[in-house]
Amino acid sequence: MLKNKFAVVTGASSGIGKQIAKDFVINGASIAIISRDEKRLNEAFLEIEKEKISDSQKIIQIALDVSKFSLVENAFQNILKEFERIDILVNNAGITKDNLLMKMTEDEFDSVIDINLKSVYNTCKVVKRPMMKMDKGKIINISSIIGLIGNAGQTNYAASKAAVIGFSKSLAKEVGSRNINVNVIAPGYIETKMTENLKDEFKVKLLSMIPLKRFGNTKDVSNLCLFLASEMSDYITGQVYSVDGGLVT
Ligand code: NAP
Repeated sequence: MLKNKFAVVTGASSGIGKQIAKDFVINGASIAIISRDEKRLNEAFLEIEKEKISDSQKIIQIALDVSKFSLVENAFQNILKEFERIDILVNNAGITKDNLLMKMTEDEFDSVIDINLKSVYNTCKVVKRPMMKMDKGKIINISSIIGLIGNAGQTNYAASKAAVIGFSKSLAKEVGSRNINVNVIAPGYIETKMTENLKDEFKVKLLSMIPLKRFGNTKDVSNLCLFLASEMSDYITGQVYSVDGGLVT
């Protein structure tokens, strides 16, 4: 589905991002993977590289903090030197720093906004021009159902993820005439490092509210991401798709 395509996936050293990167490679893409921790990123790189279906596919890894504009700008210049173009951008990097607003520190608020939202500005800003030159491109931003419905203890996270939706809908309108699709995936509860420490009683309650009666896995999200990155979704833009087992309807 992605033969001869060049993609960038942020937050690709674990969880949803690593699965998306693997599926892109299995489907023929060359890929640049980004996250902060060099060791974890390199471990993911070695796993992802095994999925290559052709020797011509390039896999590159860049350790950086996507919330820092100058680092992102520099990294994307280097990626463009290797790849010549970027066909697909997936903004997946994200964190949580949960706390009730009464207790939430300024740093807990700012860091979540910077990593979950500002990063999306950073990467979209730097790929916009090269994609516009090609008159083609796919941008997929990973939000969350929490950005749609809110959650006690997650004012920072919900605000960042709701803002990603508004950002994406606006950008879709700006770049639609240049054949660039911008869509959002809003996962529900997906089993990854991010959710492993949630309390058991919360998980039991949540499970009872999910019509499909199971938590999601990373493949559930990457399947949709693959479709949105492929030419099969060429007439879809500015949309938000929940992958949540029916939790939010
Ligand atoms: P995860 O396993 O914790 O992975 C997060 C990834 O983002 C890691 O690779 C992490 O690597 C990277 N990252 C974090 N901060 C970064 C930064 N400043 N710069 C570059 N990379 C950074 O989490 P996940 O569950 O797969 O989540 C992926 C995305 O899905 C997130 O945006 C999350 O909000 C969203 N989501 C997840 C769920 C869920 O239930 N799991 C539900 C809804 C939405 P480093 O720490 O090494 O940088």
